[in-house]
Amino acid sequence: MQFRNFKMVDYVVFGRGSFNQLDEILAPKRKSDAPMIFLVDHFFEGKALPSRIPLRGKDKIIFADVTLEPKTKQVDALAQQLKDEFGTVSGIIGIGGGSTMDLAKAVSLMMTNPGSSADYQGWDLVKQPGVYKAGIPTLSGTGAEVSRTTVLTGPTRKLGMNSDFTPFDQIVLDPELTADAPVNQRFYTGMDCYIHCIESLEGTFLNEFSKSYGEKALELCQDVFLKRDHWDATSDDKLMMASYAGGMSIAYSQVGVTHAVSYGLSYLLGTKHGIGNCIVMNHLEEYYPAGVDEFKRMVEKNNIDIPTGVCKGLTDEQFDIMINVSLGMKPLWENALGKDWETIMTREKLRALFERL
Ligand code: NAD
Ligand code: ZN
Repeated sequence: MQFRNFKMVDYVVFGRGSFNQLDEILAPKRKSDAPMIFLVDHFFEGKALPSRIPLRGKDKIIFADVTLEPKTKQVDALAQQLKDEFGTVSGIIGIGGGSTMDLAKAVSLMMTNPGSSADYQGWDLVKQPGVYKAGIPTLSGTGAEVSRTTVLTGPTRKLGMNSDFTPFDQIVLDPELTADAPVNQRFYTGMDCYIHCIESLEGTFLNEFSKSYGEKALELCQDVFLKRDHWDATSDDKLMMASYAGGMSIAYSQVGVTHAVSYGLSYLLGTKHGIGNCIVMNHLEEYYPAGVDEFKRMVEKNNIDIPTGVCKGLTDEQFDIMINVSLGMKPLWENALGKDWETIMTREKLRALFERL
């Protein structure tokens, strides 16, 4: 097909307090006595949110350990645990940041697809729809709530299960759930959205669809991170919609240099996505001059520390691993630098960039 025909999220609820509607939303999706499984970010263990989850029958809350970003092994183990305990489930509801939402998407798919989630890292390898899945973000920025991927670190690579079966059936966008996010984390994840906008808007794959969403998301990010003089409920509302629109923007284009480089960092050093992107963006004046300048003003205004010197003391082999992972992200480089990207981003040039981080 010449034009991408992409699958989107089926149902969207937006509004402060909309989480309270979850019972009603899930009721028609329940299948006889098969439970709903609520995969909840471990940050909320012992907090008020779990007591607001509408548990019925054999429903279960599982706290997701997202100390590290999701791994194929973790997904496989969770799916196996649910199959052993319940046979089948009515649905998987992911409540948390990008890591928890990605886990929920992947576990839903692995309830019905054989083998390991590592077998499906790539594009359009998933064969069967998963079980019903809903995403409820508690951090804004990744766009994982709208994307057709779930990013997993597997035995040989960090790559998503990109497929038409991956998007959520339902998302519940309730900005109240992001209110307690720590300032640094909120910034790092928020910058993921800002960087999605810059990379989409500055990329060669841009079309009017991506541009419209990207420009709106960018305006919302500029508003919350530069223009408003303090953070409040409206800031949470705006950043949640920025994440949604930023995700829609890259759905029809691609990300770029920041993501390609930060995937290398993340694979070798385990650097988390949001902060990794910030570490890289800090040094990309050559590729995104206006974006980097504005990014630095946002860092300063919000009083955030961006780590430096993260590649100090690494060996040649380690640099090679990062370079290989990074250069493997071909569509990202093509979007950023055009069809001849391989003549522009040589291994030597990329090595020099990694050394500056
Ligand atoms: P995260 O989900 O990794 O969470 C970061 C930290 O914030 C965790 O310690 C978590 O416990 C905590 N947290 C979450 N909500 C909180 C809240 N309301 N208050 C306080 N703490 C809270 O962070 P993220 O930046 O949202 O997600 C990053 C992940 O998203 C990466 O794994 C990345 O690969 C993935 N990602 C996926 C897509 C996609 O399209 N699927 C896109 C971008 C990123
Ligand atoms: Zn991202």
